[in-house]
Amino acid sequence: MDVETFRRAAHAAVDEICDHYLSMRDKPVTAQVKPGFLTDALPDAAPSSGQDWSRINEDFHSLVMPGMTQWQHPKFMAYYPANVSFEGILGDMWAAALTNPGFNWICSPSVTELELKMMDWMAEAFHLDPAFKQRGGPQSKGGGLIFGSASEATLTVAIAARDRALRHLTAASGQIEPSREWAAEATGKLVMYGSTETHSVGSKAAQILGLRFRALPVTLQNRLALRGDTLAAAIKEDVSAGLVPFMVCATLGTTSTSAVDALDEIASAAIMPTKVVDADVAVHDHLDGSTNGANGNSTDCARSESLPPIWLHVDAAYAGPALCLPEIRTKYQKELSALNAKFDSISLNMHKWGLVNFDCSPLWVKDRAQLAASLTVTPEYLKTTAAANDPSVLDLRNYQISLGRRFRSLKVWFVLRSHGIEGLRQHLRDDILLAERFKRLIEDEGDPWQLVEFNFALLVIRLKPASTDADPDSRTRALWAALEKRNDELLLTQTSIPGAGFCIRIALGCPRTQERDVDDAFAVLKLAAT
Ligand code: PLP
Repeated sequence: MDVETFRRAAHAAVDEICDHYLSMRDKPVTAQVKPGFLTDALPDAAPSSGQDWSRINEDFHSLVMPGMTQWQHPKFMAYYPANVSFEGILGDMWAAALTNPGFNWICSPSVTELELKMMDWMAEAFHLDPAFKQRGGPQSKGGGLIFGSASEATLTVAIAARDRALRHLTAASGQIEPSREWAAEATGKLVMYGSTETHSVGSKAAQILGLRFRALPVTLQNRLALRGDTLAAAIKEDVSAGLVPFMVCATLGTTSTSAVDALDEIASAAIMPTKVVDADVAVHDHLDGSTNGANGNSTDCARSESLPPIWLHVDAAYAGPALCLPEIRTKYQKELSALNAKFDSISLNMHKWGLVNFDCSPLWVKDRAQLAASLTVTPEYLKTTAAANDPSVLDLRNYQISLGRRFRSLKVWFVLRSHGIEGLRQHLRDDILLAERFKRLIEDEGDPWQLVEFNFALLVIRLKPASTDADPDSRTRALWAALEKRNDELLLTQTSIPGAGFCIRIALGCPRTQERDVDDAFAVLKLAAT
């Protein structure tokens, strides 16, 4: 395609995209296709000679578009929202046009510097402690970068946390260069904690790294938040069993119910008084495989001086952007104070509720050297004079797994400038108000509708079982089956909740959703229930 053909094709595509948005409301929410519809329609190999763009575009509309679920539809209330803004689309258009894997500062200084600036802008907007900022003060060691997903961000943090723990254990054991066997054994004892409600970002990171993940129980009475006493008991038990707690993956806004873990209690439980009878014996016990705990005195041995500090991470993938709302910061004041004072890292997804289109997962750490210690590998061809001569030059490849990186900060800059923080606040508040409207509709209807949880802009509901129901979930499951047949009109997600059983989630957050969509959605629910 030459530049003039591109100009015409791109102008036409922008027109088509605008029409797509203008007619979104009339489209079915989900793709109305059968498995294999596209596989069967497309040839088994690429064409041997190039084809005309008009034909390709025609096939895109007739073959591919019917198989698209409309995540931007006002009645897409499933999973969590995947916000798009036109400013974000423009950012991605330019990023694609400039394609520029800015792994080193020198590869494109703007890619690195805009990203670091946007990380500080977002840290400021979300009231993160200055310690999380790149330019948080003269002694600042913090900062972060933008990943493609919360999963990637969590895996990266887990690598740094694992290595920090191993360095600590190595130093405590008095070894300079531990044997491979010793390191493998020590790694095998590391435990990451989360709750049963933690997204698989935690367990998956542990699984990839060959580490243990312990999913701790939560209760509906505690609004499904991981509590400090549960964590403290687990740490104590594991230390007594010779294991080494190294990381907590806490959540601010879990996937099922948007629960907020008790970050204050978690911080206290993980940073417990570290007195133990004989710290050195404790570490040797750990690595020798003793299950007695420190010197056999396991009851006092909650944490040992010689055990590594536990890395505290918060996954705020969905709810993170809401930290720009003063009312949310007031509501979760205890948790957020602990996050700012005690936690090592936080990640969130601007690509869920933050108006920036996929992908955009910022991760902040208080000590970016911890990431660099694990992820810096510099063969000759990656060395640069700029980085060698100037310590303020950061090469972002040293803080992530991949080498190349997308120019994600451009869309963040476009979105934050065009909307302003007030615009972002308005978007979030509109969604929370719509969720409150939905809540009122459910509460006004009363029996058998039951509101199980309501956090941020997420509602979790079920139908109350009758005393004669053999299976307390049967009514909600039947409702779900009926809703699945109406997913062209409304798309929701099912979940299962400790203490409540099978439930249905309603996630508001699409910028095009209006009050009438909420009313229509409840009407669909009621119809399905009959
Ligand atoms: N964390 C939470 C709480 C989520 O709800 C989700 C996705 O819904 C994720 C993490 C995963 O996000 P990503 O797709 O960016 O890895």
